[in-house]
Amino acid sequence: MSYSEIELADYIVKHYSELLSLSQKMILKQYRHSLKLADRADRERLISIYTRSKWLSGEPETFAQLDGGYSNFIINCSKELLSKHGADIVINICPQCGRLARTPLAKQCRHCFFDWH
Ligand SMILES: [Zn+2]
Repeated sequence: MSYSEIELADYIVKHYSELLSLSQKMILKQYRHSLKLADRADRERLISIYTRSKWLSGEPETFAQLDGGYSNFIINCSKELLSKHGADIVINICPQCGRLARTPLAKQCRHCFFDWH
């Protein structure tokens, strides 16, 4: 394998997010929102607005799933997706360098620029 576990997890979560469970989707959405808020001076005020509008649940247990870190969380998601939906997931590997393509349908490698059209 010429790609890392985290590269694969990122690829699967990005391109097959529709296969995630509702709570996994919520956690990812909340994580992305909390990142966007991270360096804003009015973070506290924004969080209370988001919480009220249900963008963030405000429930500590939801965020607890991120305790092992974002990388661990998406690695776990991708393992679960591969075991449940392995047949639907295309892991698009460059035939020349063996690295992961940008998307499941890509026909050109972003690493070595090999073209398999
Ligand atoms: Zn390549």
